[in-house]
Amino acid sequence: MNHPAHQFLVDRMLGRLIAWLRIFGYDTKSALDLEPSSDEDTRLIDIAKNERRILVSRDRALIDRAKKAGADAILVGSDDVRDQLEKLIERYRLDADPNMTRCTVCNATLREATKADLEKLKKSSEVPEHLLNDKETLWVCEKCGKAYWRGSHWRNILKTAEEVKNSHKQAE
Ligand SMILES: [Zn+2]
Repeated sequence: MNHPAHQFLVDRMLGRLIAWLRIFGYDTKSALDLEPSSDEDTRLIDIAKNERRILVSRDRALIDRAKKAGADAILVGSDDVRDQLEKLIERYRLDADPNMTRCTVCNATLREATKADLEKLKKSSEVPEHLLNDKETLWVCEKCGKAYWRGSHWRNILKTAEEVKNSHKQAE
């Protein structure tokens, strides 16, 4: 890749969109993770500019302010996550391919589970036991330790991603 990957900063009320951008591997910060601030809009615009993140919001006034301040920002009108994704894919030519690289909960990167991770997971009930015994590939978040695997939910993720990509193509 010659161009740096897009990074995002996503406003409140867009939790599902945040998870999807992380499923696609994009570094995505959430407004929900910021310290409470009396002037959150200014904070968001500062972060977008300083960290070169694309600000995503449903708040038109915030997006207008961010653009005036020189940040990259995009307004999403729909409250349907598929419409939101299509809009971002079209505007930023995103690679909408799900990959096991980023934690949907905390945005940190994932790594393949080590033997020590597996031992730890065996003691918790987070992962169904057969996965631990089948030597199915598991990933764990470097930061929060959440475990990931490609179960039935993964097939749904792939299916939805295909649908979003296809409807985007039809709209062109
Ligand atoms: Zn995590």
